[in-house]
Amino acid sequence: MKKQDKQFAVIGLGRFGGSICRELHMLGHEVLAIDHDIVKVEEFVPYSTHAIQGNATEEAFLKSIGIRNFDHVIVAIGEDIQASVLTTLNLKEFGVQTVWAKAQNVYHQKLLDKIGADRVIHPEVDMGMRIAQSMASDHLLDYINLSEEYSVIEIRVNQQMHSRTLQDLRIRPKFNITILAIKRENDINVSPLPSEVIYSGDILVAMGLNSNLKRLEDKLM
Ligand code: ADP
Repeated sequence: MKKQDKQFAVIGLGRFGGSICRELHMLGHEVLAIDHDIVKVEEFVPYSTHAIQGNATEEAFLKSIGIRNFDHVIVAIGEDIQASVLTTLNLKEFGVQTVWAKAQNVYHQKLLDKIGADRVIHPEVDMGMRIAQSMASDHLLDYINLSEEYSVIEIRVNQQMHSRTLQDLRIRPKFNITILAIKRENDINVSPLPSEVIYSGDILVAMGLNSNLKRLEDKLM
């Protein structure tokens, strides 16, 4: 299925859900915006495909909007943990393929994990970790946790690697790391060939085991 054909729904149009909704809409995706506050719903009419008022904890409401036909639903209900948990549970019971949910704290996070949320996001904690990682390293610009063991990082090429190919640097055989992309000024080269030459200042988007990524980073220190 093409990315563009995916049907998204965002439940809860606060700061977090609202920014997801706007971004998906701006990227050209179909997105249904849901909130029980009519003021929020009206605010998101221009930033969604449809904006609907309703209480997401009510099964009948979710059924009436055909929520089971959506590929990806995000539960971005903040304060009301009970409503967030109940909504997530309903969505999984209805068979929505992918349900992501925002957690307010670690207990909420555990609960959402237990009831089958496909991904639990804890924005402040996730962002704090990312910022700490990039503050702690001059080369590491950004990172995303894929699992406990695997991450994607953005790392700046230094003089030591300047004007060499990926093959020369033996990044895959030596570190078992995959270079997903090379960013150079405003360009991005996705899936670069081993023969690609990299230059000081380029940014490598690298995926691998955390321990191997750390080894690569240490080499760049
Ligand atoms: P944030 O921290 O992301 O701004 P908020 O808690 O302020 O989060 O926003 C959550 C949004 O979710 C609010 O707009 C609220 O009206 C909405 N919301 C809360 N409970 C429900 C519910 N049961 N059904 C639909 N929307 C809800």
